[in-house]
Amino acid sequence: MVSMQKILIIGSSKAQLSTTAEMITDAGYSVEQAETGTHGIALARRLNPHLVVCDWELSDCNGHHVLKQMRSDSYLVVTPFILLSSLYDHRHLRQTMQLGADDCLLQPFSDDMLIAAIAARLKNQEAISNHYLNHLRLAAENLNRLSYYDSLTKLPNHLLFAQRFNQLIKTSTQPIALFSLSLDRLRQINNILGYPAGDNLLQSASHRLQACLPANTTLARLTGNQFAIAIGNMAHLGAVRTVATELMDALSRPFSVPGHEVFLTASVGVAMYPDNSQKLSVLMRQADAALEYAKRQKSNYCQFYKSDMTVATEYQIRLETWLRYALERDEFEVYYQPQLNLRTGQIEGAEALIRWHHPQAGTISPALFIPLAEETGLIISIGQWVLETACRQARQWQDMNLGLRHMSVNLSSVQFNQGNLTQQVAKTLQASGLSPSLLELEITETSLIQDANAAVQTLNELKALGIQLAVDDFGTGYSSLSYLQNLPIDTLKIDNCFVRGVTTSPKNQIILKSAIHMGHDLGLCIIAEGVETIEEQSLLENYQCDFAQGYLIGKPMSAQHMQTYLEHRATTLVSLVS
Ligand code: C2E
Ligand code: MG
Ligand code: MG
Repeated sequence: MVSMQKILIIGSSKAQLSTTAEMITDAGYSVEQAETGTHGIALARRLNPHLVVCDWELSDCNGHHVLKQMRSDSYLVVTPFILLSSLYDHRHLRQTMQLGADDCLLQPFSDDMLIAAIAARLKNQEAISNHYLNHLRLAAENLNRLSYYDSLTKLPNHLLFAQRFNQLIKTSTQPIALFSLSLDRLRQINNILGYPAGDNLLQSASHRLQACLPANTTLARLTGNQFAIAIGNMAHLGAVRTVATELMDALSRPFSVPGHEVFLTASVGVAMYPDNSQKLSVLMRQADAALEYAKRQKSNYCQFYKSDMTVATEYQIRLETWLRYALERDEFEVYYQPQLNLRTGQIEGAEALIRWHHPQAGTISPALFIPLAEETGLIISIGQWVLETACRQARQWQDMNLGLRHMSVNLSSVQFNQGNLTQQVAKTLQASGLSPSLLELEITETSLIQDANAAVQTLNELKALGIQLAVDDFGTGYSSLSYLQNLPIDTLKIDNCFVRGVTTSPKNQIILKSAIHMGHDLGLCIIAEGVETIEEQSLLENYQCDFAQGYLIGKPMSAQHMQTYLEHRATTLVSLVS
């Protein structure tokens, strides 16, 4: 039943009020009465009526006063108001409308006229309410979509996934399979074909996944290339495996993006509710651990969680969330570590090393977060930021004549395999105004051996910009000097582990000495890393090593400290010479 609309009538004559009330009630409304203005206002505040009919003449005030009070009350400001008046005065009428009355009936008027006025005002009010309700509903729907759905694929996000999973627990009489599925090559595709193509591919991939899932399933997109799937009533692991195979088959058919035919592979990790855990957050991590295992096996591989797999700790998960915001929150800083030319005794180089100051966790080591940044693809933007900062800084020190001849910047293998690396570096150099010959990029051996042909091409392109190239952590990977012979590199950085304690290890002495000699034969400049004692430095000088870097010469330090350090070294050297 539709509830009756409530009308409040305010008037001074009791008899008149009850006649009017009876007439309005007969017309199908519910009526409340007030005999004074003050009582009327109080009643209006309490009842929040749909409409107010008010006499001009009241025992304690007039209709304008009541109207003013109502219009200054946030609840009654839009309540329709009809004034009944006997004043035939143009100014009075104008004022009534200006105060915000919706209608004014002049005496004498018939019952029908009043009922018609009430009906017209209520109808108008309803139209206005509907209009706003529609707006509100649309806004609420939008908000819901934004907070529960992924905007690219229109699939549920992690929040909705968690809700659906909890519903599934209630309705499923058999075990539930939780899949963590990742598209393996998406990052390369983004790098090579660009993000619009990658987005396109993600949309097509999610359609295909959706199409081959059984009923009673929730598919969600969690992060860039990762999806979660919950499937109820999975009595047998065989059935789970069949679904996984169907999903991977569906994705292995070629995708067409404008101008290309692209092949994707997927990996799947599975955890079972309630066998593995009853808690969604734990199951997700178990499925992720299984996924990591699957990725290491071969492409298109599905792995069930086993209790001996390492599940990511809460800390690692938190770290990943923090890392996503670190750049925009300005939590990174670049430190610089001096490099000493062993022949001239001058500080001629610096290596840029990133530092992460987290407001709660303090300083977090790059050894901890760089691998995570690589895994999530965040290294591309973080690495670019380091490059820009270091180039700008080097240019500044160059202008100050502090004797710096090169600035080394570390390049992750993910950045190295990024399609547009050379253009990015060229752009950054140009923006900073740094001479290309002053920039040295450090690349690890592992980046070089991943795809040898592509590596040679990238190195040649970078070399063509006029920059220097160094192989970092030499000796820890698989590459031999003869392999490096064919690459356009300038510098070899011998890893810490061959330098540390070299004075007491004859074996390391042989390795170090021959690496330096063979490197020189290939025309390479040699930097020894991790030099901590004066004995190590003397030994390196004996072996004709070109540069030394390590705590003995200087720890990595903030830009400000490095500048003071360089200024101090510069003046000391000048005074030594003179
Ligand atoms: P790396 O490029 O081999 O840098 C040298 C590391 O050795 C630095 O560690 C440095 O602080 C440390 N070190 C230098 N001298 C000594 C010494 O005498 N004794 C000892 N014990 N250690 C010394 P850090 O700064 O913690 O960086 C670790 C690694 O993280 C770096 O190794 C590099 O691979 C990576 N990294 C740092 N910054 C960046 C960056 O901006 N981008 C990328 N992609 N990787 C970075
Ligand atoms: Mg380095
Ligand atoms: Mg190194």
